[in-house]
Amino acid sequence: MSKVHNFSAGPGILPIEVLKQSAESCINFDNLNLSLLEISHRSKSYDAVMDEARFLIKELFGVGDEYEVLYLGGGASMQFAMVPYNLLTENGYAAYVNTGVWSTKAIKESKIIGNTKVIASSEDKKFSYIPKGFEVPKDADYLHITSNNTIYGTQYKEFPKSDIPLVCDMSSDIFSRTVNAQDFALIYAGAQKNIGPAGSTMVMIKKDILGKTGRKMLSMLDYQIHIKGGSMYNTPPVFPVYVTLLTLRWLKQHGGVSWIEKINQQKADLLYNEIDKNSLFVGTAAKEDRSNMNACFLLSKPELEAEFDKLAKEARIDGIKGHRDVGGYRASMYNALPLESVQLLVDVMKAFEAKYA
Ligand SMILES: *Cc1c(COP(=O)(O)O)cnc(C)c1O
Repeated sequence: MSKVHNFSAGPGILPIEVLKQSAESCINFDNLNLSLLEISHRSKSYDAVMDEARFLIKELFGVGDEYEVLYLGGGASMQFAMVPYNLLTENGYAAYVNTGVWSTKAIKESKIIGNTKVIASSEDKKFSYIPKGFEVPKDADYLHITSNNTIYGTQYKEFPKSDIPLVCDMSSDIFSRTVNAQDFALIYAGAQKNIGPAGSTMVMIKKDILGKTGRKMLSMLDYQIHIKGGSMYNTPPVFPVYVTLLTLRWLKQHGGVSWIEKINQQKADLLYNEIDKNSLFVGTAAKEDRSNMNACFLLSKPELEAEFDKLAKEARIDGIKGHRDVGGYRASMYNALPLESVQLLVDVMKAFEAKYA
């Protein structure tokens, strides 16, 4: 199998060791001579998977027992609804920062549940930057932010200081860099960008923020019910959670978040340096807010698109077509993407400039 360099924005690249072990588990899981897909989620072997998958999140974030970890279905999009449903009080309001498509969707759901204020937004410049210097209200029930904007390629380099519970959608940069997890009351992430396959969403919650809405809760949307059930109130997404566990183990065994952070920085520096140097490309995001995960860039001569696409394809570079809202190209550099793949993309960009500039 000759190698394809996978820059997909999501579902994104996973380590090959993880894929091989996941495949094996579909035939013979835990030496049971049974597939992981055909055994009870209440079995001893699966219980151990869920326990470790929950525990590793807390270990990698460096938080203690005041937090609980859940793996839920419905994607990060379900959390757009579950967050306000569980945290927004009847007379209170929720505060949101709007930094792109995903935040906009989160705000839409919150407005259906209750009072919602957008306290800062970068919509005025097509979400090409991260708003800064805004005041976080002290009387809101929580503040919701999106740490990395997958579509527009922007990322908070510093998080807002907040006296109210800080809620963060970390779907596309969880465990890509060290963060002060204690500063967050709730972190959620669809697994399929950086920690696993589609089908399960990780939610880490500080327990003391729950149970305050006075709302009569639907069971499946109630974090407290899922916590009480050990994230197995109903049948959990068994296979996605297992693949996520393997990915988290991979990260830990190689040296954890501080190890991958250095490599991610090298990858991003390499690519952005080329985007800035190369006369045929322009970056779309404000430089100080550029995402280390998703780099968005346009051709300075759009008429050369077919030529660049051809060179990239010949080099077996896959998944760099930009999102339709931004156009051009988007190179996603998630944890499992090796530095050599970015080097290859940069080499192709250089060769393209040498030929067409
Ligand atoms: C992909 C993505 C989502 C949506 O995730 P689903 O699992 O498809 O619901 C939400 N937020 C961010 C930041 C994303 O990158």
